[in-house]
Amino acid sequence: MLIARLIADQVGLETRLDAVRASLDNAGMPLAMASMLDFCGDVLQLSLPDGDAAILTSTLVDHFGDCDMLVADHQIEVPKLFVSDMDSTMIGQECIDELADFAGLKEKVATITERAMRGELDFADALTERVGLLEGLEEDAISRCLSERIRPVDGARTLVATLRARGCRTVLVTGGFHHFADPVAEQLGFERVVGNRLGVAERVLTGKLVGPISDASTKLATLIEERDQLGQGARVLATGDGANDIPMLEEADYGIAYRAKPRATDAANGRIWSRYLTTILKLFDIPEDEWVDG
Ligand SMILES: [Mg+2]
Repeated sequence: MLIARLIADQVGLETRLDAVRASLDNAGMPLAMASMLDFCGDVLQLSLPDGDAAILTSTLVDHFGDCDMLVADHQIEVPKLFVSDMDSTMIGQECIDELADFAGLKEKVATITERAMRGELDFADALTERVGLLEGLEEDAISRCLSERIRPVDGARTLVATLRARGCRTVLVTGGFHHFADPVAEQLGFERVVGNRLGVAERVLTGKLVGPISDASTKLATLIEERDQLGQGARVLATGDGANDIPMLEEADYGIAYRAKPRATDAANGRIWSRYLTTILKLFDIPEDEWVDG
């Protein structure tokens, strides 16, 4: 079985659907059903008895463009566990780039971040290098950075609160730092935080990390550990945008790439290009009047 849900404009919908149907017929994957979901009027659901999810995804992109969508090999249900990346997924910034600006090094650090998130650099090496560049920066810069620069992505609080109201456990896993992730998690309502710790001595950053590095394998291990505690059959949602999110996006039942780098988008079975994280609630067919304000 294959189920696809996508946010679809009604204008020209029938023409697009006919083209999708023809392409899928050509691929030997006939469409069984296409209908708008009951609760969220702009969500189109397609179902196929079987077929290749990658072919279905690329067919939908061919005819609907970069729309928000989710493809699964089972009936889509509200997840019991939500594990998310922080930087450029739950907040609109990369914390280390913004913090580097307080040391006059934003451009240098941001260039490394961008390459690491694209998967062009080893994550741990790139992290160690950037943290090293921050040596000597006063710890106070972090709280200034948080209040002046760091903002949640639209819909982040509502996404977390609504999933929690439906009995979903929520975990923030970041390759960034607890200094940022702890207050962000509190603001957004996440129940657990996993991240890196910046070394501080006498209120100044040491340029070193304390403890083990939180990287792609940590994100994956956290997802698996949390899922194991929920028992069999618990569906998992993961969201992220960078190369270090790929293993957890692949492991999740619903791996949703949020305005992501190409490699992360390719690894995910869902994608959001619009600004609002609440689009994810629509893909789970949670009606807007049941969304919970964070
Ligand atoms: Mg990120």
